[in-house]
Amino acid sequence: MSDLDLTAGSGFGLDNLPYGVFSPPGGAPRVGTRVGGTVVDLSVLLGDEFGEGVFAADSLNPFMATGHHRWVEVRGTLRDLLAGGEVPDSAAHPLERVRMHLPFEVADYVDFYASEHHASNLGRLFRPDNPEPLLPNWKHLPVGYHGRAGSVVVSGTDVVRPSGQRKGPDDPGPVFGPSVRLDIEAELGFVVGSGSPLGTPVEVAAAEQHLFGAVVLNDWSARDIQAWEYVPLGPHLGKSFASTISAWVVPMLALGAAKVDLPRQDPPVLDYLHLARPWGLDVDMAVEWNGQVVSRPPYREMYWSPAQMLAHMTVNGAPCRTGDLLGSGTVSGPDRHQRGAFIELTWGGKEPVMVAGEPRTFLLDGDTVTISASAPGPGTERISFGEATGRVVASGPRRAG
Ligand code: MN
Repeated sequence: MSDLDLTAGSGFGLDNLPYGVFSPPGGAPRVGTRVGGTVVDLSVLLGDEFGEGVFAADSLNPFMATGHHRWVEVRGTLRDLLAGGEVPDSAAHPLERVRMHLPFEVADYVDFYASEHHASNLGRLFRPDNPEPLLPNWKHLPVGYHGRAGSVVVSGTDVVRPSGQRKGPDDPGPVFGPSVRLDIEAELGFVVGSGSPLGTPVEVAAAEQHLFGAVVLNDWSARDIQAWEYVPLGPHLGKSFASTISAWVVPMLALGAAKVDLPRQDPPVLDYLHLARPWGLDVDMAVEWNGQVVSRPPYREMYWSPAQMLAHMTVNGAPCRTGDLLGSGTVSGPDRHQRGAFIELTWGGKEPVMVAGEPRTFLLDGDTVTISASAPGPGTERISFGEATGRVVASGPRRAG
């Protein structure tokens, strides 16, 4: 038998038990959980007890599709099995020996815009002549756009600097080339476990039956490409080149103690978005730029709830599917050091931040950004989300131009 490290402080104790997909040395991908610095192979520990092949799979989708009742059951069984502090040798792997994969097959990816602080700041930066930074719809619906599922990558994947069209306000015409305003967006992503049929909206009060878990998300953004392309249909190539998620999916079942009331929604929302007590999550995030913390975005400040995002996304009858990823939008708090994107943190590049003694605005080739997050658990131990990290590498040769 192998011992598990259940001592406090790792953020990966028995109150967390996130799910991920890993390969042991020389082995095929399979589903695991993490306790301390040990990855526990669920295809060995649980076998087919909860469905044939659900853990001997290269994504979480088969397990997620088994539904909420089964998620509760598996989590309870896991806690019982792991509480003894040891697992069979064949199920235990040191974290540093395994390779982590994208944890689920992303079905559709929708990115929202749920932080009032972020939306207000971006309104001031992108529409400086408009006295009202929020557009008239913002407090009535969770604004979002459809992103690109195929470019969601797991933490640790390099991000190639995108090329595209940009046109500064004084330029006579657009030019083509590598983005010169490459930015991040620190977000949480929510993963749909069980879907809903075409034509049947998910009720806001039932959203938790569908939401499986949460990840840290970096929605890399090329602000120069975005600024030129986004009117009138919204973000497109300025966003779709890469979005990084953390390797471990923290179950919503682990986040009960992290639930908090949302900041007050005023004006009141329409009935289909109404919850008696709309909930957010008390998740602390941190953004590291080349190893230096430059921002600590507080998720508890978000205006819209994940349940409202899912209800809104399906209210027109659009289905949701196992593996759908709902980005929260950039998490920004009221203070400067709580802004989750560099365009806000540096106020459009006019107020650089110091990183390793250098004034910095947007990302340079070779920069690494790591976003981490943690939440209170039911006891004294915090629940870690791990991290979403990525390094920017130079654009390759281009034929267009
Ligand atoms: Mn975003």
